Amino acid sequence: MNRIEYADVVVVGGGSCGCVMASRLSENPDRSVLLLEAGPSFSSVTDVPAALRDASMLPIGPGSEWTGTYSAELTSGVGRTIARGRVLGGSGAVNGGYFVRATPSDFDAWPQSVWSFDQVLPFYIGSETDLDSGVARRWHGSYGPMPVARTPERARHLLTTEFMKAAVNAGFPMQDDLNSPDASAGGVGAVPLNIHNGIRVSAALAYLLPILNRQNLRVQGDSTVTSLMFHGSKVIGVESIVDGVRNVVRSDTVILSAGAVHTPALLLRSGIGPADDLVALGISVEVDSPGVGRGFSDHPEVAVPITPMNETPTASPALEAVLHSGDVEIRPYTRRFDRLIAGLAHGPHVVGVGLMRSTSRGSIGLRNTDPFEAPDVVYHYLESDVDRRAMRDGVALARDLLASPSMSSKVEVPSIDDPLAALGTSLHLSGSARMGPESDSTSVLDDHCRVRGVDGLFVVDTSAFPVVPSRGPHATAIMFAERVADLIADHDRRAEA
Ligand SMILES: Cc1cc2nc3c(=O)[nH]c(=O)nc-3n(C[C@H](O)[C@H](O)[C@H](O)COP(=O)(O)OP(=O)(O)OC[C@H]3O[C@@H](n4cnc5c(N)ncnc54)[C@H](O)[C@@H]3O)c2cc1C
Repeated sequence: MNRIEYADVVVVGGGSCGCVMASRLSENPDRSVLLLEAGPSFSSVTDVPAALRDASMLPIGPGSEWTGTYSAELTSGVGRTIARGRVLGGSGAVNGGYFVRATPSDFDAWPQSVWSFDQVLPFYIGSETDLDSGVARRWHGSYGPMPVARTPERARHLLTTEFMKAAVNAGFPMQDDLNSPDASAGGVGAVPLNIHNGIRVSAALAYLLPILNRQNLRVQGDSTVTSLMFHGSKVIGVESIVDGVRNVVRSDTVILSAGAVHTPALLLRSGIGPADDLVALGISVEVDSPGVGRGFSDHPEVAVPITPMNETPTASPALEAVLHSGDVEIRPYTRRFDRLIAGLAHGPHVVGVGLMRSTSRGSIGLRNTDPFEAPDVVYHYLESDVDRRAMRDGVALARDLLASPSMSSKVEVPSIDDPLAALGTSLHLSGSARMGPESDSTSVLDDHCRVRGVDGLFVVDTSAFPVVPSRGPHATAIMFAERVADLIADHDRRAEA
């Protein structure tokens, strides 16, 4: 063993939520905060490599030094290897830059005590600086860390422009601001992006790296937390491996922000999960919590191939506009994925169709107790009739728009035998250690994100969402961490009063 350290709060995982938590919690100079991140860390904003800053590419290709992978079964017989961010900033450091808020009705599934739309709206607003002058200021922030802007009309990729025209001609409303609550009615609009001057602004860049000089904050990269430590029903610290050496950090407060795949895996390895599964792996049971790893949700995505007639090189963001119709989101990507992700084999240019309210619920389980082995992830995508029908209708709508006069002069649409064959995932995994009422035995957390049955242990990442929102989760992940940090600060304020 190397050494034993102490911190008032340990944050496990420096991804989108972990960076916000470490930044906000260390605003209190009397609280020492240690952030442990499995992947590489950086010492300043300027230390972040160009590959992570460049928003025109996704640095997640084969051999990427910024990602970890896991094997998944999307649906019976369809396997995939899937990447997530494994670097300071997490998946938000390698993602597409789409930064769209959840709709007000998405929060109906969240505990209303703390998470009604009215209660979360101030935290969406406080987390951002919306740089666009055309948006209604009542919905937007001007002082928050995350910059948000939409690609202006004059700068849009030709395919984006023609797609938006086709959607409007087909009768869909134009939404000037997809982050306004009114946009939940559906329609086509420019995607709010957390991209500024071509730079993908992750939570590491926005929240953490600018305040690294705080004396009470330490950020340690290349540190994989392997298990939690308990005394009775109280968490007392974490064990980690740094350069092959075991470390112990003692702490009364541990915040798990290792992401929706690795947070449940860490809970399971530490004895919090379905008792039968733990016993089968020889793990002693700390808390029998049947919902850990079970019942997660995500957005299945089907790719509709297109052949653009003229392909011009572009540095546009991957996605500049989307159409929301019913439960689907149609995504006219600006170029082929092998042009967005270095090292991918040549593939067709596609329009994506995401099913944003899917009935499928997946599960995450350990293969063994090796902390460096990713868990198995099973999605059960498109296994219900209702999902298959919604996805088929979405693909048909996408193909109709592509065949419309405004688009048919720009792209050809090859025929396809099975509209659902090109199945993928949007990489929006949420709800693998959910919040919920005590009456729901599958909820792992209370409404303040405290793990039931363990004092001092919190989950603050998209695992905690009751269900994946009907929009991409990144903006909601940042809001969520802001809100939890404020709940903790509020608790401190009350304790001092
Ligand atoms: C390629 C990709 C593209 C995406 N594009 C978009 C998009 O454009 N818009 C959108 O809304 N959403 C997008 N998403 C989803 C979105 O980025 C994520 O939902 C969000 O970033 C999740 O935040 P998080 O804090 O829950 O987890 P993450 O950001 O994944 O953070 C988890 C962190 O924990 C670390 N970690 C894991 N295990 C351990 C351990 N044992 N010890 C220490 N550290 C650990 C990881 O290395 C990682 O840094 C995308 C996701 C991916 C993967």
